Amino acid sequence: MITTTNPATGETIAEYETLDANGIDAKLEAATRAYRDWRTSPVELRTKLLARLSDRYLERKEELARLAVTEMGKPITQARSEVEKCASLFAYLAEHGPPMLESEFWELGDGGRAEGRWLPQGPVLAVMPWNFPYWQVVRFLAPTILAGNVGVLKHASIVQGVAHKMEELVLEAGGPEGLFQNLCVSSDPIADVIADTRIVAATLTGSEGAGSAVAAQAGKHLKKVVLELGGSDPFIVMPSADIDKAVEDAVFARIQNNGQSCICGKRTIVHADIHDAFADKFIAALKAIEPGDPMDDDTKLGPLSSEGQRDTVLEQVEKAKQEGCTLLFGAKKLDRPGAWMTAGLLTDVPLASETGTDEIFGPVGQIYQAKDIEEAITIANAIPFGLGSAVWTSDEEEREIFANRIEAGMTTFNAVNGSKIEAPFGGIKKSGFGRELSHHGLHEFMNLKTLVYP
Ligand code: NAP
Repeated sequence: MITTTNPATGETIAEYETLDANGIDAKLEAATRAYRDWRTSPVELRTKLLARLSDRYLERKEELARLAVTEMGKPITQARSEVEKCASLFAYLAEHGPPMLESEFWELGDGGRAEGRWLPQGPVLAVMPWNFPYWQVVRFLAPTILAGNVGVLKHASIVQGVAHKMEELVLEAGGPEGLFQNLCVSSDPIADVIADTRIVAATLTGSEGAGSAVAAQAGKHLKKVVLELGGSDPFIVMPSADIDKAVEDAVFARIQNNGQSCICGKRTIVHADIHDAFADKFIAALKAIEPGDPMDDDTKLGPLSSEGQRDTVLEQVEKAKQEGCTLLFGAKKLDRPGAWMTAGLLTDVPLASETGTDEIFGPVGQIYQAKDIEEAITIANAIPFGLGSAVWTSDEEEREIFANRIEAGMTTFNAVNGSKIEAPFGGIKKSGFGRELSHHGLHEFMNLKTLVYP
């Protein structure tokens, strides 16, 4: 049984019966059956389904947003934006997806010709996290539909309501039975699902531990895997930045999604020339953030996704103090039912410490001072992760240096870093491998079949 809990109140929302081995088997059979037809379906059928899904998500925006807020506590305005982003990706692939499936051709030295044709491969398992409970899944689902593959979802336990709803929406939009199914299970049977010959590949968005477990099992069974893991992204502010805008965005970058985004700006690195001016404003703005009801449109910081998640963050703050970091303010548990805490800020963080190298998945920032661009890059890269990064500068030369030297899958200039529906997304180092979105993401689970014509 999986029980979901409202993190804003601590109350139980619902209980879901988990699938036993027979239930899982039936779902994998249905996926295999669906694939037989879907793999050769006309591309227009797939794009029409994508377009209808886009409409459904928009029509049901409020209901879907409220469900996510109830299950994992993100502010309602951000939940609505998440649903809109899903609708945009469905619509984008409906319109711009077909050319990404077109063949490539090569003239051969012997006078022949070769074609590279993109073909589907079969049912793909997606293991997904709770933090963007719709978006992380749609980033997998939309290209899966377009590719002619089928999807089996193992969603995070705490968002089972969202998982069930997403399966329902595909059927409602006219998707065939078995095209996209939710496996309502804990992580225990996932190793067997990966080993099952009916599953051809796996993708996971989540923590390092879960990524390593899924990749090890996929490796053992020689199946391809894409991993989108954690990060501790740098948010770098150089002297030529618009400081007020950078402060505003640094606060949002750190507390968006209640501090639980893989690409939050978790480590704010400020050039010495502007450090004090920036820090005064940043501290004042972050301190002023009051946790509030996540269903309220004015709320910027809600509860964490669960009491366990909140306690992990508080333990990390205690560890930081033991490691010599200074807690400038906040990071306090609130005495009320649910997973509440205040935002906080750490400084004097030793680069090689656990605090300096681990991901803090909650609204507690870190501020560093860098004497020059070299030191800013050194601090930025002094982590095992390499997911995103943001740099505030209006100097073109500096921009190029950061673009080439920050070790990350993405760098955004003068804005909060975030995935874009049109562009590739993914990490390096311990943030994972492979890409989602764009033709690069679409092709990850396709077979580039070479056809040779003499
Ligand atoms: P998590 O604990 O790793 O869970 C992610 C998913 O993996 C859940 O469905 C979970 O199921 C499952 N899982 C856990 N252990 C597993 C195992 N041994 N075998 C198979 N499945 C397993 O991560 P989370 O706490 O939900 O999410 C937070 C993490 O995700 C953070 O590190 C964050 O940075 C990262 N993240 C990365 C991206 C990205 O795009 N790179 C995006 C969002 C989040 P249960 O819920 O049943 O345990």
